[in-house]
Amino acid sequence: MPFYLPNFPDDKPAMSRYWSAVVSDLTPYVPGEQPTLPGLVKLNTNENPYGPSPQVLAALREAAQDTLRLYPDPSASELKQTLADYHGVSSAEVFVGNGSDEVLALVFMALLKHDAPLLFPDISYSFYPVYCKLYGIDYRTVPLDEQMCMRPDDYAGPCGAIIFPNPNAPTGIGLGLAAVESILQAHPESVVVVDEAYVDFGGDSAVALIARYPNLLVVQTLSKSRSLAGLRVGFALGHPDLIEALERVKNSFNSYPLDRLSLAGAVASFRDEAYFQQTRHAVIDSREKLVLELAGLGFEVLPSQANFIFARHPEHDAAQLAAGLRARSVIVRHFNAPRISQFLRISIGSPDECAALVRALRELL
Ligand code: PMP
Repeated sequence: MPFYLPNFPDDKPAMSRYWSAVVSDLTPYVPGEQPTLPGLVKLNTNENPYGPSPQVLAALREAAQDTLRLYPDPSASELKQTLADYHGVSSAEVFVGNGSDEVLALVFMALLKHDAPLLFPDISYSFYPVYCKLYGIDYRTVPLDEQMCMRPDDYAGPCGAIIFPNPNAPTGIGLGLAAVESILQAHPESVVVVDEAYVDFGGDSAVALIARYPNLLVVQTLSKSRSLAGLRVGFALGHPDLIEALERVKNSFNSYPLDRLSLAGAVASFRDEAYFQQTRHAVIDSREKLVLELAGLGFEVLPSQANFIFARHPEHDAAQLAAGLRARSVIVRHFNAPRISQFLRISIGSPDECAALVRALRELL
């Protein structure tokens, strides 16, 4: 019998009739584009301009063999132990997932849905409200101040939980450890999640506070400072009870979010400390140089502790600048959102890429 679509009584598109109720209302996150055109200077998704450690590539080649017919370790024990040793915690305090986006997705479900609203900054990682919508989490955004900084006191009221990136995205501005600690102290009954995707480029990590604050969860990624955005590995560190909540959700969803290649590459990355230090410092050096050059062109650049900068020009419209850069094969990120529509977020590229950006801007201004 041929497959056929039933006739529906109203004029809704036929396929949506098959959807679960939650789907129609979703507004999915849109990641920065990944154009395939050759010769582009791609400064739009905060990738690392330097390749992964040669040791990672060797480990991936080594793992690409007959054993791929076998499932990977569902508990990722070797990677968890590697991360535990690296960060000075126990492996019961480590959770791993398929990129920190997946880790965050599980965190929102496992730890952030409560009667009182979840708090996060009004200008922040735009995936947070998407997870809230997906899981039906009530949330309230807390405005950054005029300088685009988080004010810890603004988070003092009752809430279900708190999440913020540190350094923040897309501003790049970091929050000091004392301020993070004051938020933790004000909310002993609530989980506080610090999303440290960019911390290795100059931020203060809250990992050292885990031993003292059972309500703290720190999320990090190998996508940025370890140049492994394509491998998809992220992790969370926190009290074993928080980790247990994440494991329960993960094991109700997918036993094997990390494949054999990802596990091997991630472990190797943490064994090459010299390469990690060398490349992250190269990015930081390029950032400081680029900040000076953009300031010289009249840009106002927010102080960044990340591998990107957030900048605006008092005399030039940001959307037009982004379009002009694109016409010159340089791609940066522009968010058409309240308070930030006059800013450009520019990832730190190689010295050559930064020079190409500055050349293109000189032509445009
Ligand atoms: N957190 C923040 C603040 C980010 O900007 C990103 C990158 N888009 C992520 C988490 C997710 O990174 P990944 O999934 O590659 O680990």
